[in-house]
Amino acid sequence: MSRLLLVTGASAGIGAATARLAPSRGWSRVVVHYGRDHAGAEAVAADLRAAGAEALVVQADIADPAAIAAMMAQVAAQAPGPLDLVNNAGIVSPTGSLADLTPERVRRVFEVNVFGAIEMARAAVAYMRAHDGGGIVNLSSVAARLGSARQYMDYAATKGAIDSFTLGLADELAAEGIRVNAVRPGLIETAIHAKGGEPVRMTRIGHTAPLGRPGSAEEVAEAILWLLSDRAGYVTRTLLDVGGGR
Ligand code: NAD
Repeated sequence: MSRLLLVTGASAGIGAATARLAPSRGWSRVVVHYGRDHAGAEAVAADLRAAGAEALVVQADIADPAAIAAMMAQVAAQAPGPLDLVNNAGIVSPTGSLADLTPERVRRVFEVNVFGAIEMARAAVAYMRAHDGGGIVNLSSVAARLGSARQYMDYAATKGAIDSFTLGLADELAAEGIRVNAVRPGLIETAIHAKGGEPVRMTRIGHTAPLGRPGSAEEVAEAILWLLSDRAGYVTRTLLDVGGGR
């Protein structure tokens, strides 16, 4: 049975680019997960079907463990088989200094980016164990190691947590042949920056990368799908920067 690719947050940005690229990189079955943007998810699914792939659209708030469990039950019923997970759904915090890091704000970004990603991995690994294995790529960020004074320290901290989680999970699952890696994008042109509050300034930061420009969602998607592919069969426990040299 061909492998199944589940991309969380696949209605837009890096997730949508990854789902759309999947058929040409060897995945003929893709689960398009979304949180709120049903129309965006259906548009991605339509493109996948036009490319000859099967597409299943599923919804869940990634910060809600019960919603993740229900989603995985739906996937198991409708699309069994080895599962590759792109743990991509995430939010960014607005810019701000220490005084802006209210408990509510910090809790929310950790709930989505860390608790959500860990719970998603837990559910996906249970699925992999029941369906002949799979692999995982977590979405981190170059912010995990660069930090971001007065920008979004809490967001950067969630990505540091994702890096540590990736290393530990890769250790635990290696004996089962489940490879776990993270991709750390630099400044990538997606709508996430509009939500972060200052798209123009963020684009300027993109131009400070040694390669002199922001990256595209498609360039990140290529790295994600390579890590999940058999071509990267000896690569696990790797945190791969796709940051234009930042
Ligand atoms: P985006 O905002 O375009 O996409 C994020 C997706 O996650 C959206 O589809 C959104 O609906 C989904 N999502 C958010 N909260 C959710 C929730 N609670 N439940 C379900 N879905 C939820 O952003 P993007 O730039 O494509 O980011 C994708 C990933 O890449 C994120 O983890 C982000 O932190 C990471 N990243 C992005 C950049 C960048 O410059 N764009 C840089 C480094 C890391």
